[in-house]
Amino acid sequence: MPSKTNIHHIALVVENIQDALTFWRDGLGLELKEVKDLPEEGARVTFLPVGDCAIELVEPTSEDSGIARFLKKRGAGMHHVCFEVEDIEEIQEKLKVQGFRLINETVQIGENGRKYLFIHPESTNGVLVELYEQ
Ligand code: ZN
Repeated sequence: MPSKTNIHHIALVVENIQDALTFWRDGLGLELKEVKDLPEEGARVTFLPVGDCAIELVEPTSEDSGIARFLKKRGAGMHHVCFEVEDIEEIQEKLKVQGFRLINETVQIGENGRKYLFIHPESTNGVLVELYEQ
């Protein structure tokens, strides 16, 4: 891995963000900034900063979202780890050549033009991995 790779956030799926805050904010003392609704993803999310990293809490808001299916199948818990990388296209190309299974064959463009893609847990020892470039 290039030296400039950092962990950007660790995402947890929860039944309900407000309930989850009982531990993450009130117990552990992490700071809540804002809760964002993402209707197109059928989810509501919040990021609680931890140093240069963050814990992301994801709550499903529609029955048929991927997050709702995940919660139903596996229950609340860890969903993915996100790494911030310098050149996402370069890494994507390298992973493809090496035969790793990518969930997104092409780099996705999210809100604020952020670039991201997901790598299948089959290729990462069981952990859904997100790559992100600012
Ligand atoms: Zn994420």
